Amino acid sequence: MTALVDLKGVRFTWPKQPRPVLDLAEFTVLPGERVFLRGPSGSGKSTLLGLISGVLAPQAGEIHLMGEDLVAASGARRDRLRADHLGIIFQLFNLVPYLGVVANVALPLRFSARRRAAVQGAPDAEARRLLAALGLSDPELLERRVIDLSVGQQQRVAAARALIGAPDLVIADEPTSALDTLARDQFITLLSEEAAQTGAGLLFVSHDPGLASHFERTVDLMEINRAAQPASQGESAA
Ligand code: ADP
Ligand code: MG
Repeated sequence: MTALVDLKGVRFTWPKQPRPVLDLAEFTVLPGERVFLRGPSGSGKSTLLGLISGVLAPQAGEIHLMGEDLVAASGARRDRLRADHLGIIFQLFNLVPYLGVVANVALPLRFSARRRAAVQGAPDAEARRLLAALGLSDPELLERRVIDLSVGQQQRVAAARALIGAPDLVIADEPTSALDTLARDQFITLLSEEAAQTGAGLLFVSHDPGLASHFERTVDLMEINRAAQPASQGESAA
C-alpha cells in the first residue's frame, strides 16, 4: 500500500534562521487513515503542512505524496498533485470573498479534471449536497456572501470545499480554534464521517490535545521533531 504522505529525514530551516524548525526521521499517513498531529503553537505544524503540500521545499530529506517524489517534482507538478489529491482547510479558511457559498465549495473542481471526474452530476449540486451534509442547507444562507457567514458557518464551507471531488487526503490546519467545545466536537465528527465516506485520509492539526480521542492515531510533533527544544523542568512545571 502506497502511503499518502511519506517523509524521511526531512530537515527544514526558514530563511535567515540560525537553526532548523523541523528535523523529522519519519512521518507517514496511510490511505484512509485519520491522524491527529498535535504540538504547541510555534512548534512547526503549519510548516510541516507546507512541506507535505509542496508549498515549501526541505533542505534535506525525502517527501513523497501519493508515492511521487515532491522534492524532485517541478513547481507545476507539485501544483497539480496538490490540486488533484489534497483538500486543504486553512486556519483562516481562505474563502474567496467575491464568490458565493456554493461557488466557493465547487472551486477545486475548476482546478482539477481528476476531481471534476469524481463528481457525478453538476458541480453546484455536489457542492450543495456536501454543504447539507455539513449542516448548511438553509437556502437563505447559501445565497449570502461568505463574509456574511458566522465563523462556524465559514468553517463548514471550507470543509465542504476541501472534501469536494474526493481528494485522497484532507488536511486541516487548526480549523477549530475559533469554536466552542460543542461546535468543535460536532465539526470534527462531521469532517471525519465525510472523509470516511469518500475514503479520504485526514490529517488534522491542532495545539489542543483534547481532540486526540476523535482520531485513530495521534502524533506528537514535539516527540518526533529532533529540532524541538526540550522544555526545561521549570517550564513543564508551570
Ligand atoms: P505552528 O503552526 O505549530 O504554530 P509554525 O509552523 O507556524 O508553527 O512556525 C514554526 C516556527 O517557524 C516558528 O518559530 C515561526 O516563527 C517560524 N516561522 C513560521 N513561518 C515563518 C516564515 N514565513 N518565516 C520565518 N519563520 C517562520
Ligand atoms: Mg500553525
